Amino acid sequence: MGDAKGFLKYPREDFHKQPAQERIKHWKEFYLEMPKEELQHQGARCMDCGVPFCQDGCPIGNIIPDWNDLVYRDQWKDAIERLHKTNNFPEFTGRVCPAPCENSCVLGINAPPVTIKNIEVSVVERAYKEGWIKPQPPKHRTGKKVAVVGSGPSGLACTDQLNKLGHTVTLYEKNEVLGGLLTLGIPDFKMEKWVVERRLKRMEQEGVKFKTGVHIGKDIATKKLVEEYDAVVLCGGAEQPRDLPVEGRELNGIHFAMDFLTQQNRVNLGQKLDPSKRISAQGKRVVVLGGGDTGSDCIGTSNRQGAVSVKNYELMARPPKTRAADNPWPNWALIERSSTSHEEGVERDYAILTKKFSGENGHVKKLHAVHLEFGPVDSKTGRRDMKEIPGSEFTIDVDLVLLAMGFLGPVKNGMIEELGVELDARGNVKTDANRMSSVQGVFAAGDMRRGQSLVVWAINEGRAAAEGVGRFLAAQT
Ligand SMILES: Cc1cc2nc3c(=O)[nH]c(=O)nc-3n(C[C@H](O)[C@H](O)[C@H](O)COP(=O)(O)OP(=O)(O)OC[C@H]3O[C@@H](n4cnc5c(N)ncnc54)[C@H](O)[C@@H]3O)c2cc1C
Ligand code: SF4
Repeated sequence: MGDAKGFLKYPREDFHKQPAQERIKHWKEFYLEMPKEELQHQGARCMDCGVPFCQDGCPIGNIIPDWNDLVYRDQWKDAIERLHKTNNFPEFTGRVCPAPCENSCVLGINAPPVTIKNIEVSVVERAYKEGWIKPQPPKHRTGKKVAVVGSGPSGLACTDQLNKLGHTVTLYEKNEVLGGLLTLGIPDFKMEKWVVERRLKRMEQEGVKFKTGVHIGKDIATKKLVEEYDAVVLCGGAEQPRDLPVEGRELNGIHFAMDFLTQQNRVNLGQKLDPSKRISAQGKRVVVLGGGDTGSDCIGTSNRQGAVSVKNYELMARPPKTRAADNPWPNWALIERSSTSHEEGVERDYAILTKKFSGENGHVKKLHAVHLEFGPVDSKTGRRDMKEIPGSEFTIDVDLVLLAMGFLGPVKNGMIEELGVELDARGNVKTDANRMSSVQGVFAAGDMRRGQSLVVWAINEGRAAAEGVGRFLAAQT
């Protein structure tokens, strides 16, 4: 630790942002760069605690105190080397990770935690600018062939690790573009897509083969892949959205969030969409159902498209503003969070159950709902009983409803059914400790194995599956 009193001298400073009213006029990222000296002060706030809880809070075990210190000492090249040891894609996590590490930062016990995520993205962006991130193809090839299915962060991390081990990796993606939810789910205002393309280019230069527009299980039989390759890794994500089977669900104007978000991301990529199929919030009263990340992205996208109003309803009770007694540090704080999209304009409400939709001429016009009350947490199930509050029924006018209520795991039809891999109780692909499924030589990682999660967990999953594949191939040799 360079500056033993850094945490006493410097207050936490976050990146400045463009004001909400300016940034909703465009689709670009809106955080302003922080001068190097200020970043060094932020790095100096790290206390280099004997037990780095932050490192434990980070799902990929980033060696955070090391690179905080290196930034403080102005040794940025060493910092990126240290960061890349645990994280294949710090430019993704540094932008979109909810930073559980900061929830575990020891400084966070009684002061604002270190700005770990901002330091992470600053290290990797400086490294790109300086030309320190160069393609590093493996020196030797093992002669083993691996197919990875799905190009989200888990598939990319797995591919990157396997390629580094010298295996020849072909990554198959059903979409016309690579990146999974990094490219087609997460909006540009959270992460512009050149960020993903820049990393993909490096990977291609390192010898990875990408095949887009190939739906495994449709265009190529999954069993054929298993026969042709020494190992196959399924990284197909958790793409089955949770539906809302209530009266009026069939009306026009009610859509899954992903259908809405992917369209806008494709438009931002320069694609021309069929206007008759376009889902747009322009001039509409929008209601987003679901209070998570996806819901928040729908709010930011609706405001940028020019919605007249945006409401956001969540089924669960409003979380507390600060940690509850049973949710102590260093655990992830279960508190109400406001994203930058929330700052841009939305009316949020909690404990609301949508009962039905009604419409005119086949188009949704009203949402009918009721307020809920929640009982205490059941110590056995960990759940809370919920009851409708009599007399609290209400109706609102609406033109566009976006369903962002989570995902029910991977799509079973196709690849999974064809292979007959065993599933766990939640419907995700079941694997052993090596991430191998019930089918010999077929591995799984990311949301497909873990259920809907985070980019940083997907990277962890991809790396773990690559290790498992590496061991499997080594044992065969
Ligand atoms: C709208 C939205 C916003 C989010 N925002 C954040 C955020 O801000 N921060 C964060 O940490 N996490 C966020 N998440 C979660 C995060 O994006 C996911 O947890 C992560 O992308 C999962 O990675 P993955 O590689 O497992 O799957 P995915 O990213 O879903 O990628 C799976 C890929 O597999 C492909 N595929 C599937 N089946 C086949 C097949 N049969 N053949 C060929 N290809 C196939 C799909 O087309 C897709 O490209 C968000 C999720 C959503 C939906
Ligand atoms: S990946 Fe996420 S949890 Fe890990 S150090 Fe970066 S911001 Fe923190």
